[in-house]
Amino acid sequence: NSAHKNSISIAVMPGDGIGPEVMKPAIALMDRALERTGGPKLSYEELDAGAECYRRTGTPMSEEVFEKAAAADAILFGAMGLPDVRRPDGIEIAPQLDLRFRLELFAGVRPVRTIPGAPTPLADPRAKNLDFVLIRESTEGLFTSRGKGEVTPDYVRETWEITRAGSERLFDFALQLGRRRKAKGSPGSVACVDKSGVFRAFAFFRQIFFERAKAFPDIDARAFNVDATALDLIRRPWIFDVLVTENQFGDILSDAGAALMGGMGMAPSADIGLTHGLFQPCHGTAPDIVGMGKANPTAMILSAAMMLDWLGETKQLPSCGAAADLLQRAVDAAFAPGDLRPFELGGEAGTQAITDRVATQLEALP
Ligand code: ATP
Ligand code: MG
Repeated sequence: NSAHKNSISIAVMPGDGIGPEVMKPAIALMDRALERTGGPKLSYEELDAGAECYRRTGTPMSEEVFEKAAAADAILFGAMGLPDVRRPDGIEIAPQLDLRFRLELFAGVRPVRTIPGAPTPLADPRAKNLDFVLIRESTEGLFTSRGKGEVTPDYVRETWEITRAGSERLFDFALQLGRRRKAKGSPGSVACVDKSGVFRAFAFFRQIFFERAKAFPDIDARAFNVDATALDLIRRPWIFDVLVTENQFGDILSDAGAALMGGMGMAPSADIGLTHGLFQPCHGTAPDIVGMGKANPTAMILSAAMMLDWLGETKQLPSCGAAADLLQRAVDAAFAPGDLRPFELGGEAGTQAITDRVATQLEALP
C-alpha cells in the first residue's frame, strides 16, 4: 500500500562534539522542507556510536547499531571521534570509516559550490561562483592499510592499494556524474587526479580511468597531478568540473575544497555505494568549539539536502527532490544579503542565528 511505500527510514548518527549540535537543526529544517513540498514523512531512529559511545560502552559502534544503520533507507551522520579518546593502538575512533568499508560506500561526493553572499577566502570574482565536485574513493587507496600497517620501533609501513574493480566503479560513477552535470550546463570535463609519474599504483589508476572514459565520448576526460591540483585549487579553482581521486588525496583536497566554500562548516558530503548512502558534513567534531553555540550548521543542512536529493532519485520521489531544492535555496537566500557571517570566518553568527535565517527563508520562498 502507498502508506507503506511512502515511509522512509533514516538512521541518525549524531556522534560526538558538535555532531549533535548541527544534527538537530538540520532535521527540523529538513522536516519543514518536506512538509512544504508534500514529501513523505521520514521516520528517524537515533543510533549511538562514536568516541563517547566507546568511552561509555567499550565499543565505538555495536553490531546491532551497524545492522540498524545498514537496514535504513539512508544514514544521516554528524561527526565522530575525539582527540583524547583512542583505541589501545593509538588510532582515533572512526566508525565512519568502518561504515564506508563495510557498506562499500566507495564514492565520497564533495560538492564545492560557493554560496553567493557567504564569506569566501579568495578575492578573484571567479572564485565567488565555484561549482565543481570532488569524488573521493573511500574504500581503498592508502586507507586499506588503516590499523594493519607493519609497525616496529624502527620502521612503519602503510601501503597504497588500488584495485581494478574498485577503480572501475569509481570512475564510472564520476563519468556518469559528469554527464548529468553536462546536461545541466556544466562543461562536462572529468579529471583523474593522481601521481602517475612517480607511483605505479597511480599509473594503473590513470590507465583505468582512460579505459572507462572511452565509453563516455561526450565527456572531456583529463588527468592532473595531485600537486598541480593543489596549486590550481588556490590559483584558479574555477577551471574544475568533476575531479576524481584516491582516498587519501581526496581527504586532503576536500578540506581545501571546503576552505574555498568558506570553511569546514559550509561543506556537505555524501558517501555513496551501490546499495547505501550516508550523508555527513565534511567537518569533524570540532572539539575546540563544542558547547559554545558557534558551530555552523550549514554543512549539515546541505548534507541533509543531498540526502533528500538522493532519496528522491533512488526512490523516484519527486517531492523529496523538490524538498532538497527548497532547502538548498533557503540556505542560499539566508546568505544572499551578505551579512550572515559564521564565527569560523570572523563573524558573529552561530548555530542558532544561521538556523533561524534558513528557517525564515524556508517559509518565505515560493
Ligand atoms: P577530522 O579528523 O574528523 O577530519 P579535524 O581534526 O580535521 O576532524 P574538524 O573537526 O573538521 O577537525 O575541525 C577543524 C577546524 O574547523 C576546527 O578549528 C573547528 O573548530 C573548525 N570547524 C569544523 N567544523 C566547524 C563548523 N561546523 N562550524 C565552525 N567551525 C568548524
Ligand atoms: Mg579533517
